[in-house]
Amino acid sequence: MDPRRLGSRRLTTLLGAAVLALSTGILAQSAQNKAVDGAAPTQPGDDADFARSVKAWTTRPDFVSPLVDHLPKVEGVPSPKDVLGHHIGEPKKLTYYADILGYYRALAAKTPRVKVTTIGRSNEGRDLVVVFIGSDESIQNLEQYRGYLGQLADPRTLSPAEAKDVIAKAKPIYHLMGGLHSAEVGPSEMLMELAYRLATEDSPIVKAIRDNVIVSITPAADPDGRDRNVDWYYHYGINETEGHPTGAFVPYWGKYVFHDDNRDINYSQVEMRSLLDWYLQWHPPIMHDLHQAQTLLYTFSGQAPQNPNLDPILYGELPMMANFEMAQMAKYGMPGVWTHGFVDMWSPGYLAFMSSNHNGMIRMYEIQGTSGANTTKLHLGGTPPNGRAATEAETPADSRPAAATGSQTPAAAGAGRGEGRGEGRGSGSGRGAADARGAAAGRGTSAGRGRGVPQSQREWYRPWPATGEFEWSIRDNTNYGETGVLTALQYTSQFAKVILENFYVKSRNSIDTGRKEAVAGYVIPSGQRDMTRVERVVNLLRMQGIEIGRADAEVKLADGTFPAGSFIVKRDQPYARLAKTLLEKQVYPDPSLRTYDDAAWTMGLMSQVDVKEIDDKKILDVAVAPVKEKEIHLAGTVRGAGSIVAVADYGSNNMITLRYRLKDLKVQAAEKEFKQGDTVFPAGSFVVTGDAGRVKEAVQALGLTGAALASAPDVPMHDVDLPRLAIYSTWGSTQDVGWVRYAFDRFGVPYDLIYKERARQGDLRAAYDVIIVPNQAGSAKRLVFDVEGRGKPIEYRRSEPFKNLGMYGESADITGGMGLEGVAEFEKFVKAGGVLVTLGAASYFPAEFGLAPGVDAARPSAQFYAPGPIVDAEILHPEHPIFYGYNRTMVPVRYASGPLLTVQTDRDPFEQSAEPPPTPESVLMRYPGGDDHVLSGLMRGANEIRNHPAIVDQPNGKGRVILFAGNPCYRWQNFGEFNMLFNTVMHFNDLGAGEAAKPATAGRP
Ligand SMILES: [Zn+2]
Repeated sequence: MDPRRLGSRRLTTLLGAAVLALSTGILAQSAQNKAVDGAAPTQPGDDADFARSVKAWTTRPDFVSPLVDHLPKVEGVPSPKDVLGHHIGEPKKLTYYADILGYYRALAAKTPRVKVTTIGRSNEGRDLVVVFIGSDESIQNLEQYRGYLGQLADPRTLSPAEAKDVIAKAKPIYHLMGGLHSAEVGPSEMLMELAYRLATEDSPIVKAIRDNVIVSITPAADPDGRDRNVDWYYHYGINETEGHPTGAFVPYWGKYVFHDDNRDINYSQVEMRSLLDWYLQWHPPIMHDLHQAQTLLYTFSGQAPQNPNLDPILYGELPMMANFEMAQMAKYGMPGVWTHGFVDMWSPGYLAFMSSNHNGMIRMYEIQGTSGANTTKLHLGGTPPNGRAATEAETPADSRPAAATGSQTPAAAGAGRGEGRGEGRGSGSGRGAADARGAAAGRGTSAGRGRGVPQSQREWYRPWPATGEFEWSIRDNTNYGETGVLTALQYTSQFAKVILENFYVKSRNSIDTGRKEAVAGYVIPSGQRDMTRVERVVNLLRMQGIEIGRADAEVKLADGTFPAGSFIVKRDQPYARLAKTLLEKQVYPDPSLRTYDDAAWTMGLMSQVDVKEIDDKKILDVAVAPVKEKEIHLAGTVRGAGSIVAVADYGSNNMITLRYRLKDLKVQAAEKEFKQGDTVFPAGSFVVTGDAGRVKEAVQALGLTGAALASAPDVPMHDVDLPRLAIYSTWGSTQDVGWVRYAFDRFGVPYDLIYKERARQGDLRAAYDVIIVPNQAGSAKRLVFDVEGRGKPIEYRRSEPFKNLGMYGESADITGGMGLEGVAEFEKFVKAGGVLVTLGAASYFPAEFGLAPGVDAARPSAQFYAPGPIVDAEILHPEHPIFYGYNRTMVPVRYASGPLLTVQTDRDPFEQSAEPPPTPESVLMRYPGGDDHVLSGLMRGANEIRNHPAIVDQPNGKGRVILFAGNPCYRWQNFGEFNMLFNTVMHFNDLGAGEAAKPATAGRP
């Protein structure tokens, strides 16, 4: 029988049943109402011990389904208990990553239906794997199935008839991911049971899945974080009776970032990059990411605002699957399953979005979490179906500080702050942003219902909310997650051919729309001043599989003429939608809608690289040599002969790398422009003395432009000294610090990572010249006082058996922050000649604690909303060393929702004047503000930032404080701004250099 017909008939029956269940007595919660055709009720040969355990660990009879209340026992095939010693979902049991891998490998060794492949290594050296599960036949012929999906992903060589034939032979790969967010522990446990069940159970539902679908699994997407979090749980969480463990979170998940591994739009982290590489070889049409944040199970369906470049087919597919899950789980009598009203479809930077970006389908769950593996009491409030009023435990998310937002939502109360930190708290890119995100995240908003809608409230998209108070266990979490996933797989098995056909048509449509639509392609012109950033943009696009060609001759189009060697992105290619999404300006569809993450990411603006949007269809026929390499490398040049090498500062991020590679040589910076032949060396260019051979080699390797000279140029210069550099981190907000660490590591800049312990120890000036305080904590007070004390110390130290703690720093007690003692030490540091650099929200700290006495910091109004738009910033002192390499005074920057700074002037504060005071000298850069200066994305209330400083250079004693209102080192993304921070480091003791002509300010170093 044609499986499509079977599928639709089955669906009709099931939906009918669901409607019936809902209309007759909704709360068909008794176990016998759960019997369902296709599931396997407990049978002889099932594991009786499993069934007993599940019953005991499930806190309410309606929290389990007939799909997961039993488990087959198959001679010779190890169940999770056979290897781990316990069934999945046992209270107070979490599995370390090595044991998770051990289980999958043991399973694969005993059944031909499971295969484990290694796809890379994590930052800390753990194996990254993908586990495949399918019928014997599917697993035996995996390569063949991979080939079919590859053909559908790029159908240019397929005729319609051939496509039909491929679809007939192919099977969809359905990829599942657990443990991207390490505190969201349940799915990584559940997936082991799922794998065993899929390999062994012979119920009609499972058999159809096994035959028609190839399931693949990422067991824990951040394995390093998994182990650190399991350590933390066994160290602290396991003994907690209520709520979150000790009020403190393990300071690190992965090596660099927490939840931003789900915001890594440029795949900087090796775990994300490995998965992308795997994706581009296997093309799973569906990627399903399993999280924990909502009550009891939220299934993503791609609500507004939506990325308009994605195929309308996708926007139909997403709610279809979500609604099928809702209906099935309602039929099984499980309350609290809902869709819509949470995450929107705007940003393409979520990990599973790699699928939608490549014509597949992103799916996502947020399952009710637990505090580690402890059974937790949930207080949901709301009105239970019998009409009895329940306690109202919720307050609107917006009325609380964001730090509390996550931890007090009902979901996260159970999640042990897992998702509270993970999602509700936002990216930490400024508390303002985090507040906004916390609100958008915690509560559905885009249905226009306003914020603060409790999840216990019935909505059209949540017809059966969970209400009241009850216990929630990790087995409940397993039951919900596994039932949902089995249901999604059931759907996939019944609509396998439709899903494949859709995947093919979406890929084909991507090519066709590219031929028809206004934007025909993009040109990244050759001959840009800094080609290293061009190289980076090309490589970031290539990494995602986007085809790029290099024009062998000059390109003449209606849109302009471009030199030979320009990079051409044509829109008639399978991944053209992604190219457009990444390269175009984001036009936000409705300013009244909130979004879950950034509103803008335009790659050319973020990198400050010239990217031309082309309407002229002739671009599709331009002759190009395809860039075949996954990464190009544009070598630099050094002309001339001589013992001194000048290196032009065109704004390459590699300048700082060069300086550190040549750290033993004398490197000077020209304070004025000079010429050598027809090469212009702008202010900031290096003049390097000694070992010309090595210098040339380094300049070429880094893609820079140099010239060997017989003698030094006749311009004022200063030595580019390397500072003793520290990066300061709180214990409670390490993520954005991690992004700065990551950038410094990638560019080869050494630093000490210091915490409150070092600050309190004092005498900072003796050890450091520059201390950078990255964006963190959200407010000055939180930066200073950090993790709240709970009456006993919380140590973060390596010990037996907790080997994963104490990495990247150690503390005998992570609570309490630097305190006022620490503030006093920072003040001494600055007064004694140190340079303190604060980024984003960290800039509240010097302003509010008096380290930058002339600077005040305020917050925008409640109406202001700026989820990471790209805006203009105006450089007021182009001669200042911070701006070496920049050749325009108006530059695009990402707005980071840091403080609204003001600098006090000499004017009598009581004087009434209509005239704004003149901008003080210490303001180096400012935001012109207003809608006209919003370049991409959304800023609501753009007048509020008008003329507020973006960077202030404030002297204090013998030192200075450089306050960035924005974040010049945001994720691995705004490369165009990185150099403002790098220049601050390299010219730390010459930051007054541009003022040479002006009277010296007392005390400036
Ligand atoms: Zn999450």
